[in-house]
Amino acid sequence: MKKNYLFLIFLFILNPPLIFLLNNINYYSFSHFKIIFLFAMMLFSLAIFFIYVLKKFFSKRNFENFFLFLSILWFLQFFFIDIVDSLNIQHNFFKYIVIIIIILISLTLGFIKNNKLYNFLINFNLIILLLIFINNYSFHKNIDTNEQVSQKFYFELKNYDKKLVEKNNIYFFLMDEMSSRNFLLSQGLDIKKYINSFNTSGFQYLDDSFSSYNGSQYTIGSIFNMEYYIENIPIKEIKFFPYNLYSKFGKPNLLKTLDFLDYNFWFLDNQYMKCKENPHIKCIGKNNIAMRILKDEGLQVFFQNSLLRSIVNKILYLMNTQNYDDTEIDKMIRFIELNENIIAKKNNFFFIHQIGPHHPHRDPNCKLLNIHERYKINLQYYLNSTLCALNNISNIIKIIELYDNDATIVFQGDHGYSIYSNDNKIESFQIFNMVKFSSNCSKKLNPSIGNVETINEILHCFRKEKSLTNNISNYVIKNKDSKGTVFKKVKLK
Ligand SMILES: [Zn+2]
Repeated sequence: MKKNYLFLIFLFILNPPLIFLLNNINYYSFSHFKIIFLFAMMLFSLAIFFIYVLKKFFSKRNFENFFLFLSILWFLQFFFIDIVDSLNIQHNFFKYIVIIIIILISLTLGFIKNNKLYNFLINFNLIILLLIFINNYSFHKNIDTNEQVSQKFYFELKNYDKKLVEKNNIYFFLMDEMSSRNFLLSQGLDIKKYINSFNTSGFQYLDDSFSSYNGSQYTIGSIFNMEYYIENIPIKEIKFFPYNLYSKFGKPNLLKTLDFLDYNFWFLDNQYMKCKENPHIKCIGKNNIAMRILKDEGLQVFFQNSLLRSIVNKILYLMNTQNYDDTEIDKMIRFIELNENIIAKKNNFFFIHQIGPHHPHRDPNCKLLNIHERYKINLQYYLNSTLCALNNISNIIKIIELYDNDATIVFQGDHGYSIYSNDNKIESFQIFNMVKFSSNCSKKLNPSIGNVETINEILHCFRKEKSLTNNISNYVIKNKDSKGTVFKKVKLK
């Protein structure tokens, strides 16, 4: 009887992360779970600390029962959303009743001192783990880790040679939802004076560029694969961005190539798609440690079903509102100014995922609209956000010219104005696409290349054979279900 309760506290605290791991191991690599386990271990250590240390100061208190109650409450509250969903509860009043019931059950179980009950709860925990393990086991075996989902049209690592050219930094600005000059003009926004000034800085604006896909996760996924996805087969979500960046089944082709060429890969993320550091990926502008833990995607998904979810979201929101007017490009400007030593090494590939002109919308000076307006779909807001993005681009071009004079730079949309998405309408594929090469890699580009061709052209000067075959294509989703997403090639109209 003596130490049973400690083991019980341990099981109740560790079970939610273990269950989460067993349910999600297909989608995340092990490193995604570390913060969650660290967090759980901290909770357990705290419980032990309080039970043993406080007991010395306050004699004859039932700290064991109190912490057993807390650990059962911690465990049960992860089933809160499941209970609410399965009972189909809509009204807040009934949700509070569920909360009260969960607390009452935890209190009852926690404060009964009974060896039989303890043994039952220990077995209960172990059986749950076993069932979830069995439930997931067959699924684990069925995943084909080497499933080929991208075409071998452009990319072969053996086509690259690291001895061929000197290195220069490469800046790739993915401008979410940024459309082409022609589309903008058709909506009444003439950006000629911007393009002219970019041309003066050595950029080629690719006037007939269309995105390879009309959704962020597919286009960005294909940029990292440096290939189109194979059509007419179901492709699982883990093969798209951001998951393919962190895939435990192997790095995407871009990271393989950069590794081979001894480049560092840097990622500046945004509020939607988070950067996670690993040996191949360095994150720019990481937030402080508290922010990093709160924004940890594993942790967020872990708390999704939990009562703690809204508390975590509230803290996140409060911490987020501070520097919020800064765009990702503003953050990159700061990074360049503060890291001349990194820039000077010239072996960096910077991937900056600027969320604008995609919402949250901004005014032309990049001030965020108020919270009620910034997520509204509205053409004028979109055009203003585009002007903000163009001003951002002008600013960072000046900074890069100052600190890193001979770099390769790309500004590229991932799809057109999204009001037209899920369609083979030309507007949903028209993208802003603009490239400047470092002097030793300079090359005149075909103005109609899309995302997949552009990334291959960016690395073209490391290729043994210089010419790239022409296979410019556009794909839409043909079908999407539990088996995956199926693409089909379309003619734009
Ligand atoms: Zn997008």
